[in-house]
Amino acid sequence: MIMKRIICILMCGIILLQFSSCSFSDNTEATKNITAMNTVMQITVFNTEKGTSEEVLNLMVERVGEIEKLFDANSPDSDVSKINQFPGTPSDETASEEDKLFLHEETIDVLIASNGAYYGTDFAFNINLMPVLKLWGFDNGNYGVPDDDAVKNALATVDESSILIYETEKYIVKSEGTQISLGGIAKGYLGDELLEIAEEYGATALVSLGGNIVLCGDKGDNKKWTVGVTNPDDTGSLACSFRCNGNRSVVTSGAYERYFEYGGKSYHHIIDPATGFPADSDLLSVTVVGENGTMCDAYSTALFVMGKEKAVEFAKEHNDYDFILITKDKEIITTEGVTDVVLEDDGFSLVKSVQQ
Ligand code: AMP
Ligand code: MG
Repeated sequence: MIMKRIICILMCGIILLQFSSCSFSDNTEATKNITAMNTVMQITVFNTEKGTSEEVLNLMVERVGEIEKLFDANSPDSDVSKINQFPGTPSDETASEEDKLFLHEETIDVLIASNGAYYGTDFAFNINLMPVLKLWGFDNGNYGVPDDDAVKNALATVDESSILIYETEKYIVKSEGTQISLGGIAKGYLGDELLEIAEEYGATALVSLGGNIVLCGDKGDNKKWTVGVTNPDDTGSLACSFRCNGNRSVVTSGAYERYFEYGGKSYHHIIDPATGFPADSDLLSVTVVGENGTMCDAYSTALFVMGKEKAVEFAKEHNDYDFILITKDKEIITTEGVTDVVLEDDGFSLVKSVQQ
């Protein structure tokens, strides 16, 4: 049995930027490529108002390490592994002292955000899908197509999963069998943390976390960043570009980011919690722009699952965010806040923007 395995690491387009001649204390560019959280990351600090670009870069790299240590499901000491290995409580029993699992406060924060995204997306975003992700090999790259019964059984575990979060005391009580993956939200959270460092030092920086981009530094109205959206059909090129204010995350989810092929069919990593199978979406990619990168990340994953119709409705109701939906029909649908859109590939057509 020969299985073709393909992993595509998303390079979310190109970014061009223009600087004004502000009073920066350091104008030296400092850049670093690192591999963390299963992704190639690139951080570039262009200038700072406080400290040096090198210092800010080093602080950011250190932060990446701290967050990876908490959320990496494949590292035995991470909080995610602690959660997944914890026995949990049978659903009909009341929790006792040993059912409490104490976690780092950042993990508690991300679990709370995930919970909000779960309810806020009509359950399209669900971190408890780990048993299903394991069946497909999306946890460790050991890909395979599971049989329908196995998917059904794993999905039953997901349906029964629960995590009660005790925010003040920083512990959780989980149900037996609950296993989580923060793959759909952790990089968004990391981006927010890196932006916070940049803001503290008045730094202009560009953070690329494979599919997630963080634009650090607001260059004012006439000096926006230009962001390219990857062409899902040809990931080395762009579908479109647009102009964007700084201090925002731009997060893209798409089937092309990670998938394998088997028996002439392609299976991607974004799972529909209703079926346990890769979402049969009529979208090629979803890009979400906003100040809260954590939620941008959760929403981009969830809207991909929802598909075009529900995603457009969701976009209309969430005017704190901007959205770019690329459909299988080769349409590019944007919300009205996405400005100066330039079509970079004639194979796509720009559709009238969605009013929010
Ligand atoms: P993203 O690249 O942000 O869209 O996240 C995709 C990753 O999130 C996958 O590789 C899985 O680890 C995880 N995931 C897959 N499907 C879902 C889902 N429906 N809800 C939450 N996380 C998911
Ligand atoms: Mg996501």
